[in-house]
Amino acid sequence: MSQSEDTTAQATALTNHDRKPIHIPGSIQPHGVLLALNTQLEIVQVSNNTQEYLGKEPEDLLTQPLGCLLDARKVEAIKQCLVKKIGSCSALKVLINTSNGERYFDAIVHRTEEAVIVELEPRDSESELSFLGFHDLAGEAIAKMQSTSNLIEFLHIAAEKLQDIIGFDRVMFYQFDESGAGSVVAEVKREDLSPYLGLHYPATDIPAQARELYTRCLLRFIPDLTVEPAKLVPTENTITHQHLDLSYCVLRSFDSCCIEYHQNMGVTALLVISLIQEQKLWGLISCHHQTPKYISYEVRKMCEFLGQIVSSELAHKISHSEWDYEVKLKSLQSEFLNSISQADNFIDALIKPEIRLLDLVSASGAAICLDNEVTLVGATPNIDQVRALIEWADTQVHDNLFSTDSLPKLYPEALIFKDTASGLLLLRISQVRRYYILWFRPEVIQTVNWAGNPKESIQAQADGSVTLSVRKSFAAWQETVRLTSLPWRACELESAMSLRNAIVGIVLSKADELAKINLELERSNQELASFAYAASHDLKEPLRGIYNFSTVLLEDYAQILDDDGVECLQTVVSLSVRMETLINALLRLSQLGQAQLREQVTDLNELVDQVIEIFRASQQNSGLIDIRIPRPLPIVQCDRVLVNEVFSNLIGNAFKYNDKPEKWVEIGYLEEGLGTRDWGLGKSFVNPIPNPQSPIPNPQSPIFYVRDNGIGIPEHHLETIFRLFKRLHSQEKFGGGAGAGLAIVKKIVELHNGQIWVESTLGVGSIFYFTLE
Ligand code: ADP
Repeated sequence: MSQSEDTTAQATALTNHDRKPIHIPGSIQPHGVLLALNTQLEIVQVSNNTQEYLGKEPEDLLTQPLGCLLDARKVEAIKQCLVKKIGSCSALKVLINTSNGERYFDAIVHRTEEAVIVELEPRDSESELSFLGFHDLAGEAIAKMQSTSNLIEFLHIAAEKLQDIIGFDRVMFYQFDESGAGSVVAEVKREDLSPYLGLHYPATDIPAQARELYTRCLLRFIPDLTVEPAKLVPTENTITHQHLDLSYCVLRSFDSCCIEYHQNMGVTALLVISLIQEQKLWGLISCHHQTPKYISYEVRKMCEFLGQIVSSELAHKISHSEWDYEVKLKSLQSEFLNSISQADNFIDALIKPEIRLLDLVSASGAAICLDNEVTLVGATPNIDQVRALIEWADTQVHDNLFSTDSLPKLYPEALIFKDTASGLLLLRISQVRRYYILWFRPEVIQTVNWAGNPKESIQAQADGSVTLSVRKSFAAWQETVRLTSLPWRACELESAMSLRNAIVGIVLSKADELAKINLELERSNQELASFAYAASHDLKEPLRGIYNFSTVLLEDYAQILDDDGVECLQTVVSLSVRMETLINALLRLSQLGQAQLREQVTDLNELVDQVIEIFRASQQNSGLIDIRIPRPLPIVQCDRVLVNEVFSNLIGNAFKYNDKPEKWVEIGYLEEGLGTRDWGLGKSFVNPIPNPQSPIPNPQSPIFYVRDNGIGIPEHHLETIFRLFKRLHSQEKFGGGAGAGLAIVKKIVELHNGQIWVESTLGVGSIFYFTLE
């Protein structure tokens, strides 16, 4: 149960002001007689109603030995109480000679600091509850109560059984929350009475000192709230000169506040049984009757016994349902952790299936934040709201965790999304990186039906002090506790923490694994590069020999050979030429693998001009070459020599793989926001920003492109053409080639931390894009 904060604050403030001490009222209820004895068992104080029950005036009894009322055996039995511990109570049936003849009483005896208090309640000698009678009544009730594991059903059964036994109009179970406020959680009542089930009461209704007394005396009984109490004579104890402490007296009279409170509810007879859990007052069984109703001491004792059974079963039922939930969370946790530790991508495993992440702490939404990337699961605030929330919540984190069930009260910006996130549980996974998991719970609007307006019971006095007064109206006064979610339970927070530990463990071991693989990779890459270099370098020399000797043979010995022999030799020469080209390409690539960039500020206009100039010079029909540069290229930081190689290769290919009569090449670049230009080369060029499969370039760096109106590239080769020695055509076609140009271009672009990709339409043309970071 929740309650408004100011009520809690007032309740706390009021505990010091609580009502007058209630354990020394100086009077008792008049359905019995009280005798206070000293250690010699002489009567030192009595209630002023002795005449009515014993036929003797108080003055006749004071200073008299107890023997004047009871026989020696009973006096001896009461004497035993002097050695018992304070508050411990025993009861015996006694027969007293009164002026109206012999009368049976229940003598309820207990030790106090000073000596002994004997309370006498008249009893009908016939009405004795035998053990078997008691067993019949209690045994059946206990068996039925044990038959259910559901807490509320259990309380309901207990209320029913109790009502059977005492025949009161209403029996209800009242449960306290942390703040001392309470609510009615089970109720059995006469049909015509209005229900109190679900009503909430502020802490001030049962003040701290009353609650404390309830933990000491497990049963309180008032058969008639309307009768005048019987005063003690003399008012002060002659030994202590103080009011007699009646904490443990069954007859203790109630304070006027309590009486008025119940009378306002139409109650005349009241029986209250305490429910204790782990030495604390868990709640009360409160039994109301509209007319005066006496319950014998024996039956009351049986009710108290049933209350104790309820208390002990209660512990069992509560821990059972909590245990069930904890077991469920634990098994969910281990299943979950197992799957994320085995997954290749544990982030994916964290999210899929999404319900698992939510179930782990019984949340309705979650967000996973990995640096700038935020993934939402279930019902959550939007990404921007989550980002802002993380900024704030990070300052609240303690031991990597922060949780609240009333976020909007701490963080007013959350008001907008209270429907999804009035409760927040934030887990910080890494202190270095911005890794968080957040869980959300929606607002649960709890209608709190206080039994009357709690504020009405607290009245400020002219001097500024506050006093408690009794509320006149018990019409359900409603207060809606807003901006609050269901509270996070300790086992849910533990569940979140173990997820954190597991993730940290997994990340660490993955990082370890990755570091090992990287080391291994670096080593084998280096080996491969030096092998490629050595192999290509060393192969060149014997190859040159083969070429030279074949040419010598052709030039000097051709006339000795027949035509086939000459042809064979010519093939050897051309194959060795081709092999040299391949070896050169390999050598170049392996050189690049070990190259250090020599970056400098480079005007790409000058660089491209040089490339075009050399290119034109190498072409016979340079007049037909149409190279377009729509706008000046930018100045960038790059390795001039290598970027020159990139443009040379791309421009060379653009003309080489072109079968149009009017070939052209366009060289340009894109910036952010230039994404929707119509290229006029068919549909696939309408949007020059790469398709989703293409790598996402750094939004800051320009995207360069070399575009042609050539033969185009089939879609399934758009990636393979960047592989070493990959050619799509035979040697005879398109002037041959080693198939290494694009592999070298890719290597250079990657050395600049850039990316390269191509878009193309067969028969229409291609665009090669690349970036240089
Ligand atoms: P090479 O040109 O020496 O064969 P590249 O690595 O430069 O080697 O090119 C690989 C293959 O990609 C070429 O064989 C060709 O089929 C294809 N290719 C490259 N550029 C283009 C282009 N602009 N248009 C069409 N096809 C191309």
